[in-house]
Amino acid sequence: MRIPCPICGDRDRREFYYQGDAVALNRPDPDAGEAAWDDYVHLRDNPAGITRDLWCHEGGCSAWIVVTRNTATHEVIKAELARKATK
Ligand SMILES: [Zn+2]
Repeated sequence: MRIPCPICGDRDRREFYYQGDAVALNRPDPDAGEAAWDDYVHLRDNPAGITRDLWCHEGGCSAWIVVTRNTATHEVIKAELARKATK
């Protein structure tokens, strides 16, 4: 799989560290309650289809990138810097 880093361009996925679902960017408020934090820390979806994942280009520019991709086809639809990512 190739990931189009917004800074470096098209790169092999082995240059990237996979952090997980980009929902990690949406942490609950500190006082959100036990159920919200349990869901945030322990529960993960495993969808077949479009996902938004957080990757670090550790073998390149070290940027955090939100990658929108299709897990069924491995098509990368979009890659954007995490600090500029749209929800
Ligand atoms: Zn890069």
